[in-house]
Amino acid sequence: MSESFVRSSALMGTVITIEVIGHGGGGQGHLDREFAVDRAFDWFRTVEACCSRFDGESEVRRLSARAGEPVVASDMLFEAVRFALAVAEESGGAFDPTVGLHMEERGFDREHRTGRVVRTPLVPARPVSWRDVAVDHARKTVTLACPLLLDLGAVAKGLAIDMAARELAPFADFAVDAGGDVFVSGHNAEGAPWSVGIRHPRDERALIGTLRVSGVAVCTSGDYERRSPRDGAGHILDPRAGGPSTGVASVTVLAPSAMVADALGTAAFVLGPEKGIAFLERQGVDGLMVTPALERFETRSFASPGVTA
Ligand code: ADP
Ligand code: MG
Repeated sequence: MSESFVRSSALMGTVITIEVIGHGGGGQGHLDREFAVDRAFDWFRTVEACCSRFDGESEVRRLSARAGEPVVASDMLFEAVRFALAVAEESGGAFDPTVGLHMEERGFDREHRTGRVVRTPLVPARPVSWRDVAVDHARKTVTLACPLLLDLGAVAKGLAIDMAARELAPFADFAVDAGGDVFVSGHNAEGAPWSVGIRHPRDERALIGTLRVSGVAVCTSGDYERRSPRDGAGHILDPRAGGPSTGVASVTVLAPSAMVADALGTAAFVLGPEKGIAFLERQGVDGLMVTPALERFETRSFASPGVTA
């Protein structure tokens, strides 16, 4: 048993828990470890300040007020937008970061800390899609072709987890858990691979599986997480149908990066079980999808030895 250091903090609308085992191989002391964990938590604040749709002052909201001109973006916002557009293209538009106004209309408009309602005084002139967003890699700019509200809810948390994990890398053995989306590295306090439970989508006290994993992100999107106060449906939209996506109860994706696992899971959710699994296979990641009737769909190597216990 190695000594473990655990801290939790309410950030990004969820509880983030960071656990670090031991002091790392580089002779780091107690203070180094605490400072590293503080810096890891700071990434959640930084990413939220760039990417939150619920904060009137966030960079992404300020961007939405400047349609028609290239706007220089911070590294975090640029990375989130660039990656969201790539997933949109790969998924044929099932994943679409321009669903912000539509999310507001469905009642997903409350800031998690204060409960304050955030409404965007934007009236889109026409239906918008990810094709209305352009990035310039050399200049690090984002251009919105017309007024729209970006929603980076499916990439931001994963991005913050990845930045936190990078901060903790010198410690080798650690876990970052952001409300069920996790990145685990090395070993747990017992010297074994980390154990990551996959929640049963219809019974919050039950698990449908446990993964024994290391050096990987595991992200789950479920229709149970947040429901629309308007229609009771989940928080993932099918942009092509213009309504809630209802064919899937939960998706769990394993990937080397949490941003990748988070976003590909959301894309697979919208694509539905068969197309979603084919999509995950094409992207070279493993995943499990569960339908509302509790049917399971898995990528070919999902249950391979060493992945599922
Ligand atoms: P969380 O882990 O916070 O529950 P998910 O990874 O499940 O988030 O993604 C859901 C979030 O993604 C929604 O709250 C919304 O912000 C955004 N979203 C909803 N539908 C789509 C979509 N079709 N494409 C991209 N993002 C979406
Ligand atoms: Mg997701």
